[in-house]
Amino acid sequence: FASKMNHTTYRGAAILSYLGEQVPLIYCLETEPQQGEEEQKVEQRLLYPLECFLFGEDPCVGLEKLQQYNSSSSAQQCGRVFKEGETVYSCRDCAIDPTCVLCIECFQKSVHKSHRYKMHASAGGGFCDCGDLEAWKSGPCCSQHDPGTSVTMETVQFIFSYRC
Ligand SMILES: [Zn+2]
Ligand SMILES: [Zn+2]
Ligand SMILES: [Zn+2]
Repeated sequence: FASKMNHTTYRGAAILSYLGEQVPLIYCLETEPQQGEEEQKVEQRLLYPLECFLFGEDPCVGLEKLQQYNSSSSAQQCGRVFKEGETVYSCRDCAIDPTCVLCIECFQKSVHKSHRYKMHASAGGGFCDCGDLEAWKSGPCCSQHDPGTSVTMETVQFIFSYRC
């Protein structure tokens, strides 16, 4: 799925240029837009192509898949269980409490690398909190576990709110 998302990001430029062409056509050039008609045009010219851009397929199918994707992986967590004596990292700046820790792989790919972090040996049994949005004030995900789709998700949320 990650590669599909990258593909979508790549197509973001195409979406923007398309919107750049269509939005003025709809909102600026028509001097006396009819009530309702305008909305229909928005639906036809903007939302439907936007959805097709986003999903690369029929929007209804895409939306369904995306909803499944959202519910199944809303929290992309590392969840690595620490062995006794394994080095774990926490961040003085961002951890909600001292038990919030990252494994070394997540730590090295996280923003906390440049923060006031601290490291200690795990007593064993804990797990990596990477991806736990409630464990960190900022930077909850390392680059590996960051879904990296926040912009796309906002767009999709917009579509959801418009349609539902
Ligand atoms: Zn981890
Ligand atoms: Zn991670
Ligand atoms: Zn930090």
